[in-house]
Amino acid sequence: MKISEILNKSTPSVSFEIFPPRENAALEPVVDVVRRLSLQKPSFMSVTYGAAGSANVNTLAIAKIVQECGVSALAHLTCIASTREKIGAELAALKAGGVENILALRGDKPVEQKGFNGDYHYASDLVAEICSFGGFSVGGACYPECHPECNHIEDDIRNIKRKVDAGLDFLTTQMFFDNNVYFHYLSRLRSAGITVPVIAGIMPVTNSKQIARICALSGTYLPPRFRSIVDRFGDNSEQMLDAGIAYATEQIIDLFANGVNAVHVYTMNKPIVAERIMANLGSIIRG
Ligand code: FAD
Repeated sequence: MKISEILNKSTPSVSFEIFPPRENAALEPVVDVVRRLSLQKPSFMSVTYGAAGSANVNTLAIAKIVQECGVSALAHLTCIASTREKIGAELAALKAGGVENILALRGDKPVEQKGFNGDYHYASDLVAEICSFGGFSVGGACYPECHPECNHIEDDIRNIKRKVDAGLDFLTTQMFFDNNVYFHYLSRLRSAGITVPVIAGIMPVTNSKQIARICALSGTYLPPRFRSIVDRFGDNSEQMLDAGIAYATEQIIDLFANGVNAVHVYTMNKPIVAERIMANLGSIIRG
């Protein structure tokens, strides 16, 4: 099913994210994860695409498995350093594989490559290409705390608007740990004339090293309440898992309680995290 249709339903949407195995690695462990995640009946599952064109061969393979498990797949696709010919071939393969949804991304600039050698500069170029190819529901990424390469949130939102105007059906946010950050951002997007659904990205943090990496990469704001949890439980993996799941669950309930209808959980190939969050949500998502 197309994600544009899923997001039109009145029932809350909870989706999961999975990353495929690297090129030449066995598919089976990730296939097992997909099977377990699918038992939670997520609204859809997104499958990431290897950074800067690497290790992307398995995105389609895993997206097909997701669909075989009865769940709609959202295949991520990046365009940095790619060519129109290559993207055309990717789109044809996705369509032939029965995938109806694409998250159109620029991708991160490879460290060793300074310029853009491909045919695309921004995700908006890819969105336009996918829309002219036809047949897909297309999503894009957005950044409640501003994309790291952009100096001003207003400029970043203007660029998001360009991407939406190119034909996006929905946006998915970068992770955030303070729901006020999301609500404030949403109101800025709406003021800028962006009306598409904005799926809230929630990362259940289950180990303290993960947090250090997140802060270094994205500058995500960590509210004091969350910092205390990491300080107190970060050295004990079992306690951190329990606390991270509880924190993510509370965030999701607060989002739903305040009118948000779609949440994407960065499940990081950990079925236990998805299972426990869905169990916590219980009747809130079953209606
Ligand atoms: P863009 O929308 O092109 O924006 C990139 C930068 O360019 C921003 O600073 C923006 O403000 C600026 N910009 C955009 N248009 C213009 C313009 N016309 N003029 C001037 N500046 C402009 N990466 C992967 O490699 N694989 C994945 O599977 C993946 N999945 C992701 C999923 C989500 C939900 C998110 C939030 C990110 C994901 N990423 C993934 C990371 C993403 O590729 C990076 O954040 C990347 O740096 C930007 O991609 P984008 O699509 O947002 O780029």
